[in-house]
Amino acid sequence: MEFNIDDAVSRRVKVFTDRVSMAKANDLYFYNQPIEELRSGAKVLVHGREMGMYASYGYLGLLNHPRINKAARKAIDQYGTGTNGVRSLAGTLTIHDELEETIANFKHAEAALTFTSGYATNLTVISTLMGRGDYVLSDKLNHASIVDGCLMSGAEFRRFKHNDMEDLDHRLGQIPDGVAKLVVVDAVFSMDGDVADLPRMVEVCKKYNAYLMVDEAHSLGVLGKTGRGIEEHFGLEDVIDIKMGTLSKTIPSIGGYIAGKKDLITYMRHASRAYLFSAALPPAQAAAANEAFKVILDEPWRIKKLNHNTQLFINGLKSAGFDTLLTTTAIVPILCGSDDQAFAMTREAQHHDVFVLPVVSPAVPEGMARLRATVTAAHEPSDIEGAIDVIAAAGKQIGII
Ligand SMILES: *Cc1c(COP(=O)(O)O)cnc(C)c1O
Repeated sequence: MEFNIDDAVSRRVKVFTDRVSMAKANDLYFYNQPIEELRSGAKVLVHGREMGMYASYGYLGLLNHPRINKAARKAIDQYGTGTNGVRSLAGTLTIHDELEETIANFKHAEAALTFTSGYATNLTVISTLMGRGDYVLSDKLNHASIVDGCLMSGAEFRRFKHNDMEDLDHRLGQIPDGVAKLVVVDAVFSMDGDVADLPRMVEVCKKYNAYLMVDEAHSLGVLGKTGRGIEEHFGLEDVIDIKMGTLSKTIPSIGGYIAGKKDLITYMRHASRAYLFSAALPPAQAAAANEAFKVILDEPWRIKKLNHNTQLFINGLKSAGFDTLLTTTAIVPILCGSDDQAFAMTREAQHHDVFVLPVVSPAVPEGMARLRATVTAAHEPSDIEGAIDVIAAAGKQIGII
């Protein structure tokens, strides 16, 4: 059969593939690079070269932790490698129940529920809870999985100014009384690294009787003295209705969870489609996640080291002259300006064995292209200083600082 390249769908595909080919031809394509070895997580082997990894979300350096690997191996011996189906039918294992209890305890919640990805968690939780005639209010910088969940729900979708509680208050005030309202935010914003203004948000939500959901993808293990997240960070206890998080970042596994009141969890266990119609977490991944929460509590030095490394990295970049926006966390945006400047910075850094990645439009506004760099507890301070030197030299060469 002749492939017709002149139809609208093929043209759409071609626009994209042309862009990818062009970037590759100009040595400006940095995505999907296969990593050969993960070593400590802070150093990786790419194309046979050892590089410092500054683009990973393994904030506490738990990947390859002996206790976690051992738990995963034990689970394979006990259960095998799959679950043969969905949780509500034949797919629930004792390790799933254990994991959910561990998460509930860690998050100081009555109960918890897991799903097979963080993305699916946001999609299914928001769209199960909300529907036509309801209102969802989402921070402008929320993660794509939250946006997709809001759109999928069919509820009225309102975006408020980034971390602006006056704007949230104003928008909630425009919604009629008695209507179901859900406010959703990232705890730590995945592009800018700043922390959501939880104390004021809780007040505003109370004022309007709105339900509050917070995504802790980048704050679990990062915020709070014991890594419990944003509530611990602000010294607030149990003020979030839906405490959502992932098992794929600080926790070196895969999956997502929500924690909250027992009734909410029972409801989601029987009504959310990603739970009812998608297979359960594999046993090794559930066991790894379960053990990781315990390691976080047993090894508090990791959080201290992460905080120390974060300060070192942000201060070093700032004193070199970079704009790092309002970050106070391990996600550090290094503003470059144009998309081309961000690509050039990436190429320079990678040529000097510093693995960073660019974020360009439309993911961020035009002119705000950046490197989005991350540090973890697995980095050594001397490595971080070396990475800052490489990034600063590239910044001078390209004319950013
Ligand atoms: C990564 C991320 C997710 C998705 O989690 P996965 O486990 O990768 O599917 C959801 N929300 C935020 C804020 C994220 O950064």
